[in-house]
Amino acid sequence: MSNKKILVLPGDGIGNEVMAEVLKIIDWLSKTRSMSFDISERLVGGTAYDKEGDSISDETMQEALDADAVLFGAVGGPQWDNVEREKRPEAALLRLRKELDLFANLRPAVVFDALAEASPLKLNLVKGLDILILRELTSGVYFGQPRGIEEYEPGKQKALDTQIYFDYEIDRIARVAFDLAKKRNNKVTSVEKANVMETGVLWRQVVKKTHEDYSDITLENMLADNCAMQLVRNPKQFDVLVTDNLFGDLLSDCAAMLTGSLGMLPSASLGAEIDGKRNGLFEPVHGSAPDIAGENKANPIATILSFAMMLRYNLNQQDLAKSLEDVIQKVLNEGFRTADLYSSDDQTLVSCSKMGDLILERL
Ligand code: NAD
Repeated sequence: MSNKKILVLPGDGIGNEVMAEVLKIIDWLSKTRSMSFDISERLVGGTAYDKEGDSISDETMQEALDADAVLFGAVGGPQWDNVEREKRPEAALLRLRKELDLFANLRPAVVFDALAEASPLKLNLVKGLDILILRELTSGVYFGQPRGIEEYEPGKQKALDTQIYFDYEIDRIARVAFDLAKKRNNKVTSVEKANVMETGVLWRQVVKKTHEDYSDITLENMLADNCAMQLVRNPKQFDVLVTDNLFGDLLSDCAAMLTGSLGMLPSASLGAEIDGKRNGLFEPVHGSAPDIAGENKANPIATILSFAMMLRYNLNQQDLAKSLEDVIQKVLNEGFRTADLYSSDDQTLVSCSKMGDLILERL
């Protein structure tokens, strides 16, 4: 494999600690496998604001645009809560998503056997669960115009948001869903409210048309309210679930909770494939956890799993991604837990860096 350019942005708080564990793995891969990475590391978030005057500098943004993939830790913290809005740590993430045109947000909900008891659902419903929620990230009601709050009569107000989708936006996210399903179990569930929303009607029509190019994939349509119910009734019926920005926001959080722990949740945001290159940002779902930052207590697994997603979806290294996930499963089966997962005396409590070492040793 040729050198892959990876931009590493650890960010603030535990972002640095969890990213250090991924860098150990990348270093090991470079030394022992026939793959080499061209890694560069830069500041982002509050740390970048303090040292460079903005939460993401133009130079860092340019490096992100040039990279094959961006690995992101977490940003934010109380010390930056009063920084002006456009320079806030979170603004860096929004700029990255916008300029890299990352319209597809992937959130897997995978239940590791050793942690199945931590799920709020019954063991038989979640044991072995492995589903992928794909959310449209750059359009829909969060961005649609017109929007605002205005006075319609003296002293009385109305608020307006606009849910809008163009056919090409639906087509491109549907294509990502079908492509992902090909690498998984060949099933896509498309979720909308075609019974009561015009955007739902168009969504269903476009997905059906796009599906004509993917005859080997099973397509199922489901109304969003029914989907919310099915996610807690029988989540294992799903493989890839694709939906719009608003429904995806809700359903991905619901699916995330099936797995029981924030420190275990990876995510990826992907752009369109252009000339064989697809922009991608890979990050844990959790934030910078200021309450435990600097204590070597954080769980690095969400970030390591985000790196595994990078291997699978951007670098076409499915086998390697799978072996990394299997090793994590093994370490958990052996009873090792960071503080967020630790629940009984028969488990071994380990630090963030120890968890990274255990994973590396077993690789
Ligand atoms: P958080 O995810 O940082 O923390 C929530 C709770 O979960 C905390 O108790 C924390 O200790 C724990 N936790 C989170 N990740 C963990 C891990 N890997 N291992 C062990 N425990 C973990 O959310 P918050 O406290 O609401 O936000 C803190 C800061 O992070 C805020 O400034 C917020 O804006 C920011 N934030 C950033 C992102 C991001 O960078 N993508 C996402 C969410 C929040």
